[in-house]
Amino acid sequence: MNELANCPNCDGLFVQTQFRTVCNDCYQKEERKFDAVYSYLRKRENRSANIDEVVAGTGVEEELVLKFIRLGRIQISNFKNLGYPCEKCRAMIREGKLCLSCKKDLEAQISQMNREEDRLRQKVQESRNTYYANSPEK
Ligand SMILES: [Zn+2]
Ligand SMILES: [Zn+2]
Repeated sequence: MNELANCPNCDGLFVQTQFRTVCNDCYQKEERKFDAVYSYLRKRENRSANIDEVVAGTGVEEELVLKFIRLGRIQISNFKNLGYPCEKCRAMIREGKLCLSCKKDLEAQISQMNREEDRLRQKVQESRNTYYANSPEK
């Protein structure tokens, strides 16, 4: 959906789209930075760079490098030391939104919620049975 929005970088008004999240000026600047990151990573000796080295080597801020990675513009499958932070604990991850331990935590929470729901459902069922058992015959 295209709509007018304020640029998160410079507050200028622009038309926001799925792919355009900043104004044209900032977009141009971001593209130049993307080119810098891209050409840095294209060098064979930088294939194993981690995020700090990319930031140091290109002068592009970490947040922006992470944005390129999240958008899939930088394919981290080609770079074994690149990743992005887990949305919960900020540990470096390379796929999904959560790291392994946060994912396990979440799964444990979900299965506990399911168990509790089962228990509630059973209680409702039991009280219904009791109600029927006690209700007078017609
Ligand atoms: Zn802007
Ligand atoms: Zn985590």
